[in-house]
Amino acid sequence: MAHLLLKNVNKIYPNGCHAVHDLNLEINGGEFICIVGESGCGKSTVLRLIAGQEDITSGEFYINGKLSNRMSPRDRGIATGFQSYALYPHLTVYENLAFGLNLEGIDEDVIEKKVHETAKVLGLTDCLEKFPRSLSDGQCLRAAVGRALIRNVKVILMDEPLSNLDSIKRAAARSEIKSIHRSSGVITIYTTDDIAEAAALADRIVVMKSGGYVKQTGAPSELYYYPKNLFVAAATGEFSMNFIQGAVEGGKFKACGLEFQLENIVKNSVGAEGKKAVLAFRPEAVKLKTEEECFAVKCKAEFSELLGDVTKVHATAGADVEKFKIILIVDSREAPQDGSEFTFKIPRKAVYLFDAETEEAMESEVVRQ
Ligand code: ADP
Repeated sequence: MAHLLLKNVNKIYPNGCHAVHDLNLEINGGEFICIVGESGCGKSTVLRLIAGQEDITSGEFYINGKLSNRMSPRDRGIATGFQSYALYPHLTVYENLAFGLNLEGIDEDVIEKKVHETAKVLGLTDCLEKFPRSLSDGQCLRAAVGRALIRNVKVILMDEPLSNLDSIKRAAARSEIKSIHRSSGVITIYTTDDIAEAAALADRIVVMKSGGYVKQTGAPSELYYYPKNLFVAAATGEFSMNFIQGAVEGGKFKACGLEFQLENIVKNSVGAEGKKAVLAFRPEAVKLKTEEECFAVKCKAEFSELLGDVTKVHATAGADVEKFKIILIVDSREAPQDGSEFTFKIPRKAVYLFDAETEEAMESEVVRQ
């Protein structure tokens, strides 16, 4: 099982661009890691540092416990370049898989055994005599990954491999990649700007922000339930989170005429006292009827969008002079009429509080799931 460790890794390009800031990441055998962030935030640079296509400016990179900053790309056992499906069109799948081994002068019977083993792992046994043009997209991807697996690579790097596909092909290719990863068990590091895609694929997600900063690393559910900062809170979830600007006064969060008692929510309400803060909750966490311990908020439904089973309600709450907008996702059978006034409830465990200045979470160890 392979093991990768990046310790305080920085990349500063010769033009002064600080593309990766103090990256710390440990990856264990078999993990599927997605690096997520908008274009230009440093995702590809991280992959290039791991592959050895760029030098690390400072910090340490270990492969299986061995310091590998200066190891040549060829010796790292790391494969890249699956975007173009990198297959030779004039060779059969068998010949494509065998190509690298043939160049190394390995015995024909050893090659045959390896090709059959790899084809079996990837479900390509019936395609070995076919040419790439007669394969489906998924089979092409499997064959391209097969060419890496047959060389015993430890790690596969995929840099936005689905970005040029339409949404239907993208969904199919995503399932294909997930299934290839399951059967091969090779560490896969994958970049995307789509957090939903990352959540569907990854064991753990690394959320990056422009400037090369990692804002949080964790399992998809960890990022959703326990965002460490406003950036990750805003980036996760199908519906964007509700944020209310206010301040902590007398152990309460106060904003626009609303008050929330903070007991059990902030780590240290004494330390939070007097601070500007942002209270947040997910639209889908609210309830209209519940026995749970909740904060109740009066609001007015402005207009609604029926999404099927659920309805997205655009509402306003707060005192007359300081109203704020909120989005609620409610059961369509219980959706309020447009223009009506109603009370919604936010379970205590679904309320988040962030320091408005540092943007870091202020909450205590609340169990949210
Ligand atoms: P992403 O993959 O998230 O789109 P990149 O890793 O490609 O981001 O780029 C991160 C930053 O580094 C960007 O500001 C980009 O302009 C800069 N950059 C990337 N490659 C180079 C390079 N070879 N020389 C100088 N700057 C670069």
